Amino acid sequence: MRLQYFGLAAMFCAFSLCAQDRPLHGIDVNDIDRNTNPCQDFYEFANGNWRANNPIPPTMVMWSKRWAAGESTKEVLRGILEDAAAHSSTAPPKSTERLIGDYYGACMNEKQIDAQGVEAINRELELIQSIGSVADLQRVMARLHEEAIFAPFVFRSTQDPHNPQRVIADAGTRGLGLPDRDYYFKDDDKSKETRQKYVEHVATIFVLAGSDKVAAAAAAQVVMRMETSLAGASLTNVELRDPYARDHPMKLDDVQKLTPDFNWGEYFKALHVDPRVVLNVDQPKFMQEFQRQLQQTSLADWKTYLTWQVLLTAAPALSTPFVQEDFAFNQQYLQGAKEIKPRWKRCVESTDANLGEALGKKYVEKTFSPEAKARMQEMVKNILLALHDDILTLTWMSDETKQKALEKLSTFNPQVGYPDKWKDYSSVEITRDFYWNDVVEAQRFAVRDDAQLIGKPVDRLRWGMTTPTSNAYYNAKLNEIVFPAGILLPPMFDVNATDAVNYGGIGPVIGHEISHGFDDQGAKYDATGELKNWWTPADYKEFQSRGQCVVDQFSAYTVDGGLHENGKLVLGESIGDLGGVKLAYLAFQKSMEGKPRLPDQDGFTPEQQFFISWGQSRGDEIRPDAQRRFVLTNPHPVSKYRVIGPVCNLPEFQKAFSCKAGDAMVRPVELRCSVW
Ligand SMILES: [Zn+2]
Repeated sequence: MRLQYFGLAAMFCAFSLCAQDRPLHGIDVNDIDRNTNPCQDFYEFANGNWRANNPIPPTMVMWSKRWAAGESTKEVLRGILEDAAAHSSTAPPKSTERLIGDYYGACMNEKQIDAQGVEAINRELELIQSIGSVADLQRVMARLHEEAIFAPFVFRSTQDPHNPQRVIADAGTRGLGLPDRDYYFKDDDKSKETRQKYVEHVATIFVLAGSDKVAAAAAAQVVMRMETSLAGASLTNVELRDPYARDHPMKLDDVQKLTPDFNWGEYFKALHVDPRVVLNVDQPKFMQEFQRQLQQTSLADWKTYLTWQVLLTAAPALSTPFVQEDFAFNQQYLQGAKEIKPRWKRCVESTDANLGEALGKKYVEKTFSPEAKARMQEMVKNILLALHDDILTLTWMSDETKQKALEKLSTFNPQVGYPDKWKDYSSVEITRDFYWNDVVEAQRFAVRDDAQLIGKPVDRLRWGMTTPTSNAYYNAKLNEIVFPAGILLPPMFDVNATDAVNYGGIGPVIGHEISHGFDDQGAKYDATGELKNWWTPADYKEFQSRGQCVVDQFSAYTVDGGLHENGKLVLGESIGDLGGVKLAYLAFQKSMEGKPRLPDQDGFTPEQQFFISWGQSRGDEIRPDAQRRFVLTNPHPVSKYRVIGPVCNLPEFQKAFSCKAGDAMVRPVELRCSVW
């Protein structure tokens, strides 16, 4: 059945007050820099005043209205956790209150954590010291993997890309302490300095753990040497964008041939996984390097490497000197943070990371309204319809491929706010007096909870993000788009805001996630989530050439420090943004049909309000070091280019602001990109 479009304000009447009875707020005109011409620099126009008046707080490396909303959410979570911690002794055993209250309470007990010092991780360190043979080494690796200390590979469940109804095992790469494999090889001065600082950081942590300076310096060299070899056998972040490059399903015998010195049968047994399942090896070359190191690296060096992996994972949960050194390298040096976040915030983040669905359930009970969910679901429906209509009008695609695209669109599964089924944490033992042990308990649960999926039919009710998260995602094998409650806040979404604000804010996020189903990666999966071509050769060629237009557009963008955006790395996200803004705009236009036109606000037409909301919802400020790391590792462009990249290509934007050919925000017709 053909679905109907609904205007949000009209639909809103059905739930409580009619929109006409309650004034809805519009865009933030005070954030606009009216001295900037929107056709010359739309990013500065939409955000200039906000940026001038909102410096980045010392604990943050990026700041925006969305980040501020995310930090405010942590204050709500703090309220929930402090209340739970204060009453946990009287809460029923195994209740959510006791679980999250004791976890948070143990995390907040800094005095006790400081008194324990490095002894907190004695169990793991002694385990590593007990290694006397390659067989021991493998046993210890499996024990550490049970605690989610995954090195040098990660073992997890994944949907079979050739039969998405089935869950198989997956071995991916892990075990590098720097943010990306390229950090080990780039030869500019900054990269060389970063490696030097990293070696010093590793040595400092070893000293804190009890080594003398000479031994710590030697250990740091071992770590750097082993990690560099593993990094050298790893695919680049651009190569990793191709799902076929990560597709190597194997049976136990094949994996055993790939790494003869690692006993996979024993490993599967240790992780309680049936060894007859299919194992996908993401990067066989990396596993060959693992095999080489099993043969050629001494047990003493392996012990050093694994000790480092434990220290690296545990440092934020250990005593103050470890926490400070971890901050000094990972936050301060690599990203430019000025101050560490207050303890309560770090403990909120830790609870969210390790017991996320217990805390997230409490969060949505407290904050998320059925009204918000209904309004979002309506927007999602309208934007899916906008893509449906858009596909029918594409001039570059054959009817044959259009039918397949529409078939895929019809199986999209949108999820809004929170999952319908929550995780059961009743097997997790949390105590109030040993924080690191609680972290390990929660991580063990996460590993068990994931491993038990292997070999079973896929469970479509599981989520990959916690509900307070200010983010959204698309999962190609489930063909689902997910919007946690944490992103459904201003500036992205507000039940009390006009359609222009919401369609310009969360609208492009919805359109973006939908477009991921049709970006350079998503387009390789069909309507059932199978990795399978559904394009005619001519259409796919045209799709690729349209993608190349986006690659070229973004590769030409530069950021401070002489860096360029990497068009190939940001291609998927940029196709998502280009499609996202266009689809949200089409749905916004459609929602106004047959109704009185929305009023102008401070001289801005509804169309201008839509685009200003887009610019303001994405606008941010970022520290130069964080920006460097972002550009080198993140598949998203920096905010400035996320905002102006799509609008430069859209005639709808140029019409809304009466921009002219030759203006900076108007790409020449022959360079204009359009995919969806
Ligand atoms: Zn995305």
